[in-house]
Amino acid sequence: MAVHQYALKINQHPGHPSFETIFEPKLQAAFLNRANLSWTFGVKIRSLVDNYNFPIDKIIQDVAKPPPWQIPSVRCDFSLGKLSKESTPPNVFLVEYYHHIQQYRNYTFIFTDGSKTANGVGCSYILGPSNIGIPLPGCCSIYTAELYAIKLALEAVSERTDRRILLLSDSLSSLQAIQSMSCDNVLIWQILCLMYRIQQSGKMLSFLWIPSHVSIAGNEKADTVAKSSANSDTPSVLKVPWSDLKPLVREHTLTQWQSEWSNSAPCKMLEIKPLVRPWKHTNLNCRLHEVYLTRLRIGHCYDTHFHLFHGQDPIECVHCGVTRSVKHVLVECQSLANLRQHFFGFSPGAVKNLQHYIGEDPIEIKQLIAFLNHINFRVIYRV
Ligand SMILES: [Zn+2]
Repeated sequence: MAVHQYALKINQHPGHPSFETIFEPKLQAAFLNRANLSWTFGVKIRSLVDNYNFPIDKIIQDVAKPPPWQIPSVRCDFSLGKLSKESTPPNVFLVEYYHHIQQYRNYTFIFTDGSKTANGVGCSYILGPSNIGIPLPGCCSIYTAELYAIKLALEAVSERTDRRILLLSDSLSSLQAIQSMSCDNVLIWQILCLMYRIQQSGKMLSFLWIPSHVSIAGNEKADTVAKSSANSDTPSVLKVPWSDLKPLVREHTLTQWQSEWSNSAPCKMLEIKPLVRPWKHTNLNCRLHEVYLTRLRIGHCYDTHFHLFHGQDPIECVHCGVTRSVKHVLVECQSLANLRQHFFGFSPGAVKNLQHYIGEDPIEIKQLIAFLNHINFRVIYRV
């Protein structure tokens, strides 16, 4: 997963020394035709892009960062953020908003918003009577949608003659990123370049953070237009920062891993954990119980492995004559069937596999320990 992400990151920087090696690999046909050759990184990435239809053409290309003397001064007003969003009623926010914008009486207001729905992604800006909605690529994050809304709004502003402009956004993270100017996001740098041009033309530009969903008319309208753009069928021609493709890389990697794991040779671990994903939280709140469960899952218990340290033969089941293992005592040994019914409350004849005992939703650990103690199966060494 890390190498795929690295390749995507390089794709955003065509001037990077590794770009040509990765995205225009030499002798690709020769590598593909010779199965015994180890593929170079570039051939592997090319194969991933071709086989998975990875949308690397959707990655926005880097722009030259402006020199320090061209980085504009940013005026972001977060005054409305001093009220807690959770504990402040919407009408109080609304009153505070109307009171606060009195100081921006001579400004042209431009509202921006981004939206991500089940159908797609869109952004919008509201400037006077103009309600502009723009669909964005489906892989776009909501953060990128908010930044696009700001960028497109600034492009529109730069073409107008208004002298004082106030951009109102409900995206705190976007405004903080613009103000900090220290992040690596290509859209932030594009916004800073636009701001520099706007300020150079003698215009005054300020940003104001506003809370969402408190009935601020411009924000509500921007929200509606952005949602409508997100749900439109119009394909987007805009590109996204490489980091927006990270979820696709993760999804692809997990799918491939799951496929390999599901098709691997049958083994105990595959039976216990058929899905490749982190274990659910056990909520055991006891380290000793966690150790018990983990030892049982990996099958490395005192009784199954201590013979290796003493150069002895493994312990055998006195009833079956086979090596005693976690699977044997929990599932296979017929001589313990009645005891399992008794300890775990199974109905007679019930067939259980390892997943029932120690899988994602294991049996109550205290019951499990009581059963194992009863049959004298030692999970950990205890003096
Ligand atoms: Zn047995």
